[in-house]
Amino acid sequence: MTSPHEEENPVVLLTGNTWHIVEHSRRSAAALCGQAIGERRAHARLKQVGAANLCPRCLKLFQGDERRDA
Ligand SMILES: [Zn+2]
Repeated sequence: MTSPHEEENPVVLLTGNTWHIVEHSRRSAAALCGQAIGERRAHARLKQVGAANLCPRCLKLFQGDERRDA
């Protein structure tokens, strides 16, 4: 039952009271939006926490990340 579409369900880290998307799970020092991950209170997957609980900037960057190389 493992989904092959991990790209649609990235790792998220809880820092402060907000979930942020990170690219490399626990290794990432900063979230997608640039927020430094100072404290890793928890980690999960996007679909576990729900988009409504996610940092809106991370969510927007994630959804808009479709390789716009000219
Ligand atoms: Zn963020």
